[in-house]
Amino acid sequence: MIAEIISVGTELLLGNILNTNAQHLSKHLADLGIEVHFQTVVGDNPARIMAAVETAYTRADTVIMTGGLGPTKDDITKEMLAEYFHRKLVMDEQALAMLENLLTAAGRQSLKDSLAKQALVPENSLVLYNHHGTAPGIIMEYDGRTCILLPGPPKEMEPMFAEYCMDYLRARSHRVLVSVNIKMLSIEEAPRLAVGEAPVADALDELLDQENPTVATYAKDDGCLIRVTAAAADHDAAMGMIEPVIAEIRHRLGDEYIRYIREELPE
Ligand code: ATP
Ligand code: MG
Repeated sequence: MIAEIISVGTELLLGNILNTNAQHLSKHLADLGIEVHFQTVVGDNPARIMAAVETAYTRADTVIMTGGLGPTKDDITKEMLAEYFHRKLVMDEQALAMLENLLTAAGRQSLKDSLAKQALVPENSLVLYNHHGTAPGIIMEYDGRTCILLPGPPKEMEPMFAEYCMDYLRARSHRVLVSVNIKMLSIEEAPRLAVGEAPVADALDELLDQENPTVATYAKDDGCLIRVTAAAADHDAAMGMIEPVIAEIRHRLGDEYIRYIREELPE
């Protein structure tokens, strides 16, 4: 599974808001072992949204979009994707009832059409009911292509992703990503020893080029960090791939210069 993230919103392009949704999604997709090769930001423009979606599906099978599900005229993500997947929009009674309840709770009487538009969903889609706002999210599948539409506001998007999408994606990715961190002593702790990032990278040499597990170095204030990451069918299989690499790294760097070796647990 290869996923691509498309963040919709002219506000993002103008620099008015920071794209924390893409960061949040990327981090969780990495934890799920799902590769992300591209992130795109596109404004609230029909032709450009369509172009971004078409391009994404040339290089990914799963497209995750945030923003543009709300009640206003510039919220067009759902309409564009229904068109792309040739689906009619139909009223979802449960989403409509949830909207009506929210309005009643807020002391308002009637549901205007603009608000009711949020309860329209592409036919034959999975509806992600929004417990933190108004617009439901959507999952659609067609011909090996999956699209997940999520609302823009992070306080709605993040819980919806956790509630519905993590399990959904986990079940489809058939892969887990496991990382083990090797933390070196800092240069202050071992002043004459070769524990900085450059000498460590020199010692690791061709290990840094391998694909699965990958080995990467990060210069940190309190000492160089080496991360070994494997993608495999399950945790044990990933660990089985990581362990020989760790043994080789310990051999090359020397245990006396290593502060700790431990698995990085997903947040
Ligand atoms: P709404 O119902 O609030 O209109 P929406 O799904 O239509 O939700 P947008 O209109 O695109 O979403 O964005 C609403 C707000 O959500 C933005 O003003 C911004 O505060 C926040 N937001 C949108 N996209 C992002 C993003 N990628 N990262 C962080 N915040 C975002
Ligand atoms: Mg909106």
